[in-house]
Amino acid sequence: MDQHPATRVVHQPTPTLPNSHPISVPLYQASNFAFDDPDALAEALGAPDCGFVYSRYGNPTTRALEETVAELEGGAAAVATASGMGAVTSALMGVLKTGDHVIAQNCLYGGTFAALSYLHEHFDVEVSYIPGEDPAEVAAAVRPNTKMLYLETIANPVTRVVDLPAFLRAGKEAGLVTVVDNTFATPLLCQPIRHGADVVLHSITKYLGGHSDVTAGILVFADDERYRHGWHHTMEMGAMIDPFASWLTLRGIQTLALRMRQHCANAGRIAELLAAHPAVEKVHYPGLPTHPDHEVARRVLSDFGGVVSFDLAGGRDAGYAFTKGVRLVKLAASLGGVETMALHPASTSHRQLDAAALRSAGIAEGTIRLSVGIEHIDDIWADVSQALS
Ligand SMILES: *Cc1c(COP(=O)(O)O)cnc(C)c1O
Repeated sequence: MDQHPATRVVHQPTPTLPNSHPISVPLYQASNFAFDDPDALAEALGAPDCGFVYSRYGNPTTRALEETVAELEGGAAAVATASGMGAVTSALMGVLKTGDHVIAQNCLYGGTFAALSYLHEHFDVEVSYIPGEDPAEVAAAVRPNTKMLYLETIANPVTRVVDLPAFLRAGKEAGLVTVVDNTFATPLLCQPIRHGADVVLHSITKYLGGHSDVTAGILVFADDERYRHGWHHTMEMGAMIDPFASWLTLRGIQTLALRMRQHCANAGRIAELLAAHPAVEKVHYPGLPTHPDHEVARRVLSDFGGVVSFDLAGGRDAGYAFTKGVRLVKLAASLGGVETMALHPASTSHRQLDAAALRSAGIAEGTIRLSVGIEHIDDIWADVSQALS
């Protein structure tokens, strides 16, 4: 008997493609996958590589993204998450237990500071912050309960560049799990796993997505065992990415090399122009020979990134006036998009830090962070220089 319309509208055919395949990765906007074999379904529930059963466990579009980024980073496998903070908290909570101790750089992303203090309040996780200037800081901070060393390749917002090979070696010598947030560098400028990192993470929201239209993150694991543990934790905690965000990210990543080349070229020029401007007291860009980490950056990075920070001579008022004066440049909390964005950290992203903590992270009251976009350099500078005057 023919099925009724009410049934036929529900069960739609899935086309098979006999002689061709799509050039782009299809969007599998499916939460759920049907099986012919009950044993295969049971198996798929237990591991990340036995077929797709439920999109919190794994999804073909997401898997394409995970394999793409794992390969770029030189890792064994990756787990994509609902946000960069999903990746940060997965990296922390997947390893740490109550009472454990973490050694972390003192100029971390603001949200990562907040996550570490949450873990301190709720789970007695202790944190020691180190300047990230001398690898001996690691051994000096180690305690019997130290489990993890947490670093950022290029640290927000004054673009400190840690000597990753030396710090990761020090972390390994102390038997620590090493985690690197590689958001600012992207795998095109640095692959921390090649320098010995156990886990690398990204806020996809920034350069990997690149178009200010995705909120997502990703964890890349150096080895398969850590990956399986990380997959289990992230899946159980529910921090998995949505397939549509994976699909947008795959599209964004196709132009990552072109975008990064333009971000870096524009940022380098803007840094030079700012350094010569009388309203600017100091420019923080690892590509400038005056930057304290310039020599380290030349060794660790293949280019110097798209973020330039600068301190205005006029302090807090001048910082505020600059962010009111920009027109083409967007006043925004995020970074890494194709459009140039400006932020005044002291009054926004780093407002949870008191004056002393601000100073120790190298942030002045008049510091502006510019995420330099891929527009024409003359238009970017025209807007920045009119906002400076
Ligand atoms: C933005 C950012 C994060 C957090 O990512 P979300 O996608 O906003 O959750 C983590 N680390 C760094 C370095 C970032 O810039």
